[in-house]
Amino acid sequence: MSVFLDQKYLMLMSNRLPLFKKKKDNTYNCRCIICGDSQKNRRKARGYFFAYKTDLRYKCYNCDISLSFGNFLKSQDSLMYSQYSLEKYSEGHNKYANVVPEFKFEEPVFKSNNEKLIDKLLDRVDTLPSDHEVVLFCNSRKIPKEKQKQLYFINNIKDIVQLNDKYKESIQSEEPRLVLPFYDSNNQISGVTCRALRGEALRYITIKIKDHVPLIFGLDGVNKSKPIYVVEGPIDSLFLDNAIAVGGTSFGKLDQTGIDKDKLIVVFDNQPRNKEVCKLIDKNIEQGYNVVIWPQTVVEKDVNEMVMSGHNVKKLVKDNTFNGLTAKMKFISWKRC
Ligand SMILES: [Zn+2]
Repeated sequence: MSVFLDQKYLMLMSNRLPLFKKKKDNTYNCRCIICGDSQKNRRKARGYFFAYKTDLRYKCYNCDISLSFGNFLKSQDSLMYSQYSLEKYSEGHNKYANVVPEFKFEEPVFKSNNEKLIDKLLDRVDTLPSDHEVVLFCNSRKIPKEKQKQLYFINNIKDIVQLNDKYKESIQSEEPRLVLPFYDSNNQISGVTCRALRGEALRYITIKIKDHVPLIFGLDGVNKSKPIYVVEGPIDSLFLDNAIAVGGTSFGKLDQTGIDKDKLIVVFDNQPRNKEVCKLIDKNIEQGYNVVIWPQTVVEKDVNEMVMSGHNVKKLVKDNTFNGLTAKMKFISWKRC
């Protein structure tokens, strides 16, 4: 119930917010100190703090900025923010339930503790303003709007260690990234992979949260009674219906999911000159999997690139799924090694 913690810190800094006032339970209003609000009318106050899930969120109807309370505080006072993070992420916040007794609020229902954690730590992409770096990135990759709800933004990759402090030593950089969470079949978060936005050499940083669960992206959302597409990259899976991603070429993980082999359609990247990939496709065909063999008219390397150059990938995969002998023949004419 960190709305209490957010309120406590909002009160602590409220003397710096021009025209600050409480509008109703869990809703506060002030002049926006990020854009300066209306310069013509000094009485205009278009910044709002309101309850969103377990936290307060800040939104300005003048500049359209939308931030978690934590990130708002961070932008204004880094010292107070470190104190806040310490309280927020160290021992839980139950003790604050008594600190601000005059606020009533309904306790929301969560899928799991972990969901709370990820929503607390990160901003969901669809809640961010349209000119935000990560939103621009997702749009430039043509990631469908409704899929952006599954994705998150982290301002500083170092903060990701709050999901698993084993990574404390290994993560040294501090750049912002797009975060793709993995859930197990019980809807518990099992890991995240964080994609670079600014061309860092290390394109993906992956954090395991649960040790013994295979990281398979999208597993929580698939219908197991329908055909399931299996791709390499999590982002690629967002362009297909009922799709999961193994995050690389370790399709062996699929055995651990208990999904019927007949239901799976394995979609490798389009790399006919890559010996390892060719070997794996051959093996998958031998094992009886349905596989997609890309037609020779397609030159792009992966699903996302195909989408970006205008291919209808849903139709492409549908029309080019094969198994058994047909798959073998298509594969032989596709491979270049
Ligand atoms: Zn503003």
